[in-house]
Amino acid sequence: MKVYTRSGIREISRKHGFRRSDSLGQNFLVDKNIIDKIVESAELDENSLVIEIGPGMGALTESLLEIAGKVVTIEIDSHIIPLLEENLGKNDKLEIINQDVLKVDFSEIITREKMRWKERGGTIGKVAVLGNLPYYITTPIIMGILEKEVAMDTMVIMMQKEVAERIVAKPGSKIYGALSIACQFYCETDYVATVPRTVFQPQPKVDSAVLKLDRRKSLPWEVSDRELFFKIVRAGFNQRRKTILNSVSTLDGLEKSELSDMLEQQKIDPRRRAETLSIEDFAGLSNRISENIHKTHKQTYK
Ligand code: SAM
Repeated sequence: MKVYTRSGIREISRKHGFRRSDSLGQNFLVDKNIIDKIVESAELDENSLVIEIGPGMGALTESLLEIAGKVVTIEIDSHIIPLLEENLGKNDKLEIINQDVLKVDFSEIITREKMRWKERGGTIGKVAVLGNLPYYITTPIIMGILEKEVAMDTMVIMMQKEVAERIVAKPGSKIYGALSIACQFYCETDYVATVPRTVFQPQPKVDSAVLKLDRRKSLPWEVSDRELFFKIVRAGFNQRRKTILNSVSTLDGLEKSELSDMLEQQKIDPRRRAETLSIEDFAGLSNRISENIHKTHKQTYK
């Protein structure tokens, strides 16, 4: 049965008495071209380990299993697992984890799989995270993977178009923000394609987009205190209409006059807004502030 067709989805749902859940973001893909596009973008082969998020009935999983060496797929809805298992059949390359993706330790899966492959005399060539994400938790999923520095090589993920646009946004744009900086700090980002709502069953209210995030092997910016860097970025965008001087001086313990001097030293006009600052600007500013913490023996800024 073709799980990526409207009739296939209806048929298997009827057979299992399955009722889809809106709150779990269950909008299933019914377009083989889009499925192929997602899978091809990840550039997988038999040495690839794929961690898939939200397989649903297995529309993407089926194609992934044809190419990758192993697919570990994480699905929260226990009611959909029997449909997934029936569609995919028995497959040694497949492992289904019935859990909330936000509670899954990706690093543990990768370490464990690396050991297994080694025991069999092989090595993993690429670790890819893929999925047509449940949109209600897109940002926490991505941020969790990035902040925990999961050792993946690439992520190819479908998400709400507006979120994808924010992720790839550049300085000077109204939608450039803390999410853009976090993703672009850790990854090279590529907007692969816009996906119309018509290719889902049922149709969501918004359009989608496929993004590819390739994890940077080395970071092009020197950041001496990463926690402080992200604190400054968040403070900058928390009140994005304020000047960088006013928004960042909300950090506890940071004197406005000190900050003004540090901005001048970094050749950043204190009247600029966070949305005009590049990652490099934020990195330079955060290093300058970090240096100041050490010079004045302050603990840190909160
Ligand atoms: N991959 C399938 C497709 O493209 O047709 C289904 C995609 S659907 C947009 C999102 C899937 O994620 C659903 O199967 C849903 O049950 C699952 N899901 C929702 N929240 C989840 C969570 N917290 N952890 C794991 N899976 C989740």
